[in-house]
Amino acid sequence: MRGARSRLVSTVVSGTPRYRFAPSPTGFFHVGGARTALYNWILALANDGIFVLRIEDTDESRNEPQWTQGILDALAWIGIDSSDPHFEGPYFQSANAETHVAAAHKLLADGHAYYCDLTSEQIQERAKASGKPGYDGYSRDRGLTAQPGHSLRFRVPTGTTVVIDEVRGQVEFDNSTIEDFVLLRGNGSPVFNLANVVDDVSMSITNVVRAEEHLPNTPKQQMLWQALGHPVPSWAHVPVLVNEQRKKLSKRRDKVALEQYRDEGVVAPAMVNYLMTLGWAPTGDTEIVEFASIVADFKLSSVNHSSAFFDVKKLNAFNGEYLRKMTVEQFVVACEPWLAPDKAPWPADRFDQSVFLRIAPHVQTRVAVLSEVPAMIDFLFVADVVIDSAAFDKAFAADWARPLLRSIRDQFATVDWNHEALKNVVEVVGAASDVKLGKLQAPVRVATTGRSVGPPLFESLEVLGRDETLRRIDAALTRAG
Ligand code: GLU
Repeated sequence: MRGARSRLVSTVVSGTPRYRFAPSPTGFFHVGGARTALYNWILALANDGIFVLRIEDTDESRNEPQWTQGILDALAWIGIDSSDPHFEGPYFQSANAETHVAAAHKLLADGHAYYCDLTSEQIQERAKASGKPGYDGYSRDRGLTAQPGHSLRFRVPTGTTVVIDEVRGQVEFDNSTIEDFVLLRGNGSPVFNLANVVDDVSMSITNVVRAEEHLPNTPKQQMLWQALGHPVPSWAHVPVLVNEQRKKLSKRRDKVALEQYRDEGVVAPAMVNYLMTLGWAPTGDTEIVEFASIVADFKLSSVNHSSAFFDVKKLNAFNGEYLRKMTVEQFVVACEPWLAPDKAPWPADRFDQSVFLRIAPHVQTRVAVLSEVPAMIDFLFVADVVIDSAAFDKAFAADWARPLLRSIRDQFATVDWNHEALKNVVEVVGAASDVKLGKLQAPVRVATTGRSVGPPLFESLEVLGRDETLRRIDAALTRAG
C-alpha cells in the first residue's frame, strides 16, 4: 500500500459500538430499508451496542410528520423496539441545521473549504470548454467570502481514498475523480454529505451500515470525517435488492413497501427471517431460523457482494411455514385483524368465534398469507354463499354431477354428522358410478362453499352443519336444473 493511501485511512474508535439507521421519510417503508435497519439492529444487539434512529428529514418538500410515524411503526413491527435499551432516538436531522453549518465554517477556518460564486451554468460551460466533466476547482484560491449565492465547497486533497468496507473489502477511489463538492449551497443550506457526516460525528457513530447506493458518497464522507478531525467509522455497504428481472426494486414497478406485505398478512417473524436470507445465509441446513440464532450468527463479512433477488413467492412460502409453526391459538390471534368487522366479508353478527376455532386448524395448513383467510371461511358466516359461476359450471359439467350429488344429499340427510362419515358417503356414491372421490368433491364443494378451493371439504361440512349443507346442496341442484 502506498504511503498516501495509508495516511488517508484512520482507525476505528473502540468502545461501545454505535450503529445507526438514517432513513429519509418518503411516505412508505422500503423492504430494502427494513433489511438495512435489521442489519444495524442485529449488530447492535450482538455487540451490545446502540442502534441510533435518525430521521433525515431535511428535504422539506418531501416531508410529512405521518411518514416519520410510519417509520417508527414499521420498525416496531419488525421488532426494532424503541423502548429497548439498545435503541436510541429518534433524532431529527432538521433539528441539527446549526451544527451542520457550524461544521462547514470550521472546515472553512481550517482551510478545508472555500467559497465559490460560479453558477451551475458557468460550471457547465467551463466543463464543456475543457472537456472535463464536473467542477474544476476554479475558486480554490480566489479567496471569496460568504455571500448570498456563494456556495461553500470542500477542498478535495490529492491522492487516493481507501474505503475499508466490511462487505466489499477495500475500495479505492482516486481523488482526482472527485470534484471539490458542495458543503453549503448558495442559500446557505447544508447538502446531504455534510449533514449526514456531521450527524454521524456528533452522534458518535462507529459503524455505518447502509445501502450500496451510498458507496459513491463514501470517499467524500470519509474525507469529511478526517477533515473534521475524527477517526472514520467502519463502513459496510449492503447490496441492493432486485426483482425477478434482476432490476433494482422500484416503487413504480415492484411491491416495495413493507406495509403492503404486513397488510396482506405476512407475519413479522417471517418477514424478518426472509429479509435476513437476502444475500446472507444462516449456518446450518435450513433458512428458517430463530431470531436469536440470526443475532448469534450474522456477520457482515459473510454478506454476498452481488444483488439479492427479493422473491415474493419465497417470502410467502416462508410465511406459510411460520403460520404452520404457530399453535392454533396463536394462529387464531394472528387472524384477528383480518376477521374484524370492517375487513370481513360477512355481517358482523354472523361471525362465531367457536365456529372459527373449529375450522382454524384446517385453514392454518393451507394459507400462505393471512389475507387469504376470510375467503377460506366466509362460507361459514355468510347467509347465502356467493357461487363462483365459472367454478359452478365446471363442477356440474359432467352428466354424473347432478344425480350423484342428489344421492349424496339423500345420504347426508341421515348419516352421522362427522367428517369421516361424510367422506365415506361421497366415496361410496362415487365408487358405485366409478367417479373418483377427488372429482366428486367438486360439485359438493362448489354447492356448499361457492368455490372450487378451500379448507378440507369434509371437515368444512362438519363445521357447517347438516341443515345448512342440505339447504345449499338443494339450492345448487335447483340452479343446476
Ligand atoms: N438518508 C439516507 C437514505 O435514506 C441514508 C443515509 C445513510 O444511511 O447514510 O438513503
